[in-house]
Amino acid sequence: MTSVQKDTLKTIVTQLYKDITEEIKELEEKTQPIAPDCSLGRLTRLDAMQEKSINESILAKARIRLKKIQFTLDKIDHEDYGLCTICEEEIPYERLCVMPESTICVTCANERDKS
Ligand SMILES: [Zn+2]
Repeated sequence: MTSVQKDTLKTIVTQLYKDITEEIKELEEKTQPIAPDCSLGRLTRLDAMQEKSINESILAKARIRLKKIQFTLDKIDHEDYGLCTICEEEIPYERLCVMPESTICVTCANERDKS
């Protein structure tokens, strides 16, 4: 990985961190308990509860990703960043741009999914 590529990745990761933090804030607001005496009709209330549970699962995933992104930010300056933790090959730069939190390469990811 060139230093220019690494700088680009740093920008991507920093931006992702901000975006996900924002997203979590919004989702936290959307997953506030629904007041029982709200003026919504029964069906609307059911809709609201369904939407809330969808948002809760998105929120849970976003929190996990945020942790990984945070970990990536700590690790990105280390020389082993971008190396697959299983086979120690370089993870392709294109993959890191999309998923900078990747710690394994596509080949190992596929192998792992098979087993
Ligand atoms: Zn690998």
